[in-house]
Amino acid sequence: MTEKTEQVIFHPDFFKIPEDGSKPYLVESKCRGCGKLWFPKLPICPACLSETFDDTPMERVGKLYSYTVMYIPQPGLKAPLAIGYVDFSNGVRVGAQIDVLPEKIQIGMDLQVESGVIREDKTGKQTISYVFREVSEGGK
Ligand SMILES: [Zn+2]
Repeated sequence: MTEKTEQVIFHPDFFKIPEDGSKPYLVESKCRGCGKLWFPKLPICPACLSETFDDTPMERVGKLYSYTVMYIPQPGLKAPLAIGYVDFSNGVRVGAQIDVLPEKIQIGMDLQVESGVIREDKTGKQTISYVFREVSEGGK
């Protein structure tokens, strides 16, 4: 029998994991109609109703704006689980799991986008999405 972990990538249209092994990144969408920046990607610009966007890779490091730690999470999630919002220099605020020990998390710290398992069901099927981790040495 071959054991193979089934993995699903969550939000593949705005979270990219390059196949060449380079670092994963988020994608911002700039409206061609009014120039506003959106994340996550939207089908229609809420500001001007344009349907055309230019997608650009975002920088990978932002600053933690706020967070919360859940000690009794939902089934399929590991505890304790930190969830927070990170502000990026393009003005976008992104919410995701924070893969850092809760006692080491500080408001304003630099966090970078990485890929991680955000959920695993009873059959072992894993959902991969973006998570925030501490900025590694030389990883910027
Ligand atoms: Zn627009």
